[in-house]
Amino acid sequence: MAIIVQKFGGTSVASVQHIQNVARKILATRAAGYEVVVVVSAMGHETDRLVNLANEVDFQESSARRELDVLLSTGEQVTVALLAMMLMKLGCPARSFTGPQAGFVTDSSYTRARILNIETSGLASALSAGEVPVVTGFQGADEAGNITTFGRGGSDTTAVALAAVLKAKECQIFTDVKGVYTTDPRVVDSARCLARVTFEEMLELASQGSKVLHSRAVEFAGKYQVPLRVLSTFDDLDFDNLPGTLITNEEESDMEQPIISGIAFTSDEAKLTVLGVKDIPGIAWRILGPISEANIEVDMIVQNVAADNTTDFTFTVARNDYDEARGLLEKVARDIDAREVTGDNKIAKLSMVGVGMRSHAGVASRMFEVLANKSINIQMISTSEIKISVVIAEEYIELAARALHAAFELDLESNPKK
Ligand code: ASP
Ligand code: MG
Repeated sequence: MAIIVQKFGGTSVASVQHIQNVARKILATRAAGYEVVVVVSAMGHETDRLVNLANEVDFQESSARRELDVLLSTGEQVTVALLAMMLMKLGCPARSFTGPQAGFVTDSSYTRARILNIETSGLASALSAGEVPVVTGFQGADEAGNITTFGRGGSDTTAVALAAVLKAKECQIFTDVKGVYTTDPRVVDSARCLARVTFEEMLELASQGSKVLHSRAVEFAGKYQVPLRVLSTFDDLDFDNLPGTLITNEEESDMEQPIISGIAFTSDEAKLTVLGVKDIPGIAWRILGPISEANIEVDMIVQNVAADNTTDFTFTVARNDYDEARGLLEKVARDIDAREVTGDNKIAKLSMVGVGMRSHAGVASRMFEVLANKSINIQMISTSEIKISVVIAEEYIELAARALHAAFELDLESNPKK
């Protein structure tokens, strides 16, 4: 029998009543002839509550990270037990599994552990006994048995990893929206739910601000070729015509691929510039070395041509890393004899993504024209084969998203194709 892995996020299991709704979805999937393996998140905002409790204790030593994982893993344990009980009450054999019980072996990087191996014999025996295994999201144990978690939002990764090792037909991520949208529907009314998007596009969208899927999960799904579907817990599940967005491979023959599939944006950005740095080998390393040593992730990087043997060096970081990065940079600037450090933490980044861009010129200039017509100043630009990103002032981000969404006709099913 084909296996479907179904993952239900926090809003889908927010109360016992919600859990009953989830159980009914699982029953419907079994009735349609599939074996089901379930992954659940903690109820509602439970993980936030646990994080806040730890913040109240306010012990920041690295040894506390092990304890943080012990704490955070409890949220999901509540949900697996309740869902397994609910399934049994409705007459469906079920068994809960913690991450380690489900066989998730990880490295020892607490709060951002990586999966090393999944030992599936426990799950397999539950399946062969006709039970529904209900697995805690985002956790496992290292080789010494210490509990680890995969980072916030990591339950998607649990589900995809299980779908990969169990060779599931599909991994379904149930959430509180209908699927993956052309852009954030809270900002752009005419945003449309996409029927299909490629792994590559989804990875860009997820890493550029779309919150619907964890980017590590998308990466995993692409690597192991797991068809991934995002769909709403609150819609009916019709197996002849599955709703939501399917994330899958780009088909060579697919002429109907749109040029732009989606627009992602985030205001969670800040930029830093070192002015008047010498144009000599090793400077980029001396500037960014201390930033990366502090585990601060750098996104866009721009360095100008040097007119008078000095140049300006600009890069972006997440907004909550801004103060720390700026402090480090002030010191670097003195060491390398740069003129000055400036910064702006009121910026936003917008990215247009589409595999159709590969074979279609002129997307960037059209994008810049649309922004120019709205008098929006572009501060930084970066491109990849299937993405163009711009940094603009935060106050214009919603205006920019609406204007571009309309100009590229993303609201229309028949939007321009490659
Ligand atoms: N409960 C965890 C979180 O809120 C993991 C997840 O739901 O994906 O981040
Ligand atoms: Mg999530």
